[in-house]
Amino acid sequence: MPPRVDFTSQRLFIPTPMQAGLEIILDRTQTNYLINVLRMKEGTSLLVFNGKDGEWRASVTNPHKKQATISLIEQTRQQTHPTNIWLCFAPLKTARLDYTVQKAVEMGASRIIPMLTHRTQVSRLKMDRIRANIIEAAEQCGILTIPDVDEEIKLPKLLDSLTADRAVVFCDEAAETADPMAALSNLKKHSAVALFIGPEGGFDRDERQLICARQSTVVIALGPRILRADTASVAALTIIQLAVGDWYEA
Ligand code: SAH
Repeated sequence: MPPRVDFTSQRLFIPTPMQAGLEIILDRTQTNYLINVLRMKEGTSLLVFNGKDGEWRASVTNPHKKQATISLIEQTRQQTHPTNIWLCFAPLKTARLDYTVQKAVEMGASRIIPMLTHRTQVSRLKMDRIRANIIEAAEQCGILTIPDVDEEIKLPKLLDSLTADRAVVFCDEAAETADPMAALSNLKKHSAVALFIGPEGGFDRDERQLICARQSTVVIALGPRILRADTASVAALTIIQLAVGDWYEA
């Protein structure tokens, strides 16, 4: 059986409507990457997607060094639907922030929400950098929709904005339950989830109370060790994917 996804071709996100035969003029950055960095020639094949129209095989038609063009040949995959898993996390400093965003995309988070808590150390975020990280991770991992990212929001406001049908999965190093899968067993497959990961200093007492006051909050522990916040995001997304996500789907 051929693999489900072609991971050998270069994949590129291009936010333009797609149909067979369409010729697309690449912007400067994309041209530079494909032609000058990857040294693609006329006829080189690649995959492209726009977040709406599935995935397409394309071919370089004009490898001009400043403004290359590609042509769409055929659709290789139908549009897929993202999970309904949101990662709400206290933003971290540069390298850990980059890591968290990239890994969240690879792990299948559909929305990324930087959340300001009392102990959050970073407040002004470079949204362009976050978006670039998201797109790069999406291109690399084969997904067909680009996860959304929000401007930073204060924790109480975020809690107010969540609808009642969205379960908050609260990662708490002081959780009483040791078995996260058991804690999540009441959630249905494909449930809407908002995963909460605190800052390096943890959530404070008031914040914990506020999060737990919500009816649909599920508290989980991530083992007996304290994880760094960036590790906690990846570990928790793994557990959520196993419990309610799309890992079992072909
Ligand atoms: N300041 C805290 C640790 C914060 S770790 C302390 O030193 O005690 C940052 C975040 O990662 C936490 O807010 C929590 O959401 C998550 N986290 C880390 N380890 C965890 C664990 N063992 N169980 C559940 N959540 C954890």
